[in-house]
Amino acid sequence: HTLTTKPWPLEEAVRRYSLAGVKGVTVWREALAGRDAAAAGQLIRNHGLSVVSLCRGGFFPADTVERRTWAIDENRRCIDEAEALGAPLVVLVCGAVTGQPLAESRKQISDGIAAVLPHAAAARVKLAIEPLHPMYAAERSAVNTVRQARSICRQFHSPWLGIAIDVYHTWWDDRLRADIAACGAEGTLFAFHLCDWRTPTIDFLDDRGLIGEGCIPIRQIRGWIEGAGFSGFNEVEIFSRRLWASDQAQYLEAIKAAYLAHA
Ligand code: ZN
Repeated sequence: HTLTTKPWPLEEAVRRYSLAGVKGVTVWREALAGRDAAAAGQLIRNHGLSVVSLCRGGFFPADTVERRTWAIDENRRCIDEAEALGAPLVVLVCGAVTGQPLAESRKQISDGIAAVLPHAAAARVKLAIEPLHPMYAAERSAVNTVRQARSICRQFHSPWLGIAIDVYHTWWDDRLRADIAACGAEGTLFAFHLCDWRTPTIDFLDDRGLIGEGCIPIRQIRGWIEGAGFSGFNEVEIFSRRLWASDQAQYLEAIKAAYLAHA
């Protein structure tokens, strides 16, 4: 993920990833700011990398109709950007409104997906619901388990809607193994994100660990994912102020070593 090496602009990230032997990149919309998405996609492919996905759409719930309509329009723009970039997938962080019942936020998420799914299908861009750890239920996502994401997917039965599984958000779930197997059977396993859970976690958003630095059984979960038929990229997605403050070239080497040793 471009956000893993946040201090690098897109051009430098792509050049360095390519030199390091990385084969694919998920682009965060922030990294595209001020750039032409189609040209950025070409640059990435010219470096021998696949565009894995665009992060991120979603944030459908809001407290007024106007804001929910704006969110739907913004998701359509995100899908257009993915199409121009040549990204086959948009990851959805679904959203929540503090103080609003989670059931209402989940309904607004379903309504938002219903509104944008035809646009995604027309653009041939898939959408992946990423369940977020329950600690984010108040403001970032009312979808907190793979089971809830599966329930939304079942409402649509669309080949364009699936699930992104991130070990950081899901490792604690005692149903994870069964839900991953079910996603495989349902054809909804669209993406797999890796980082680690540090103890103590000092920042709920930006203190994620390098692979192997925490307590997540990453290799075991990867086994479940591959056992369910997933053959896509294993995406390293680490938000960490501590690691962003380090030398990014050394950090990229550390990521490679950690991935090979622990993933
Ligand atoms: Zn993720």
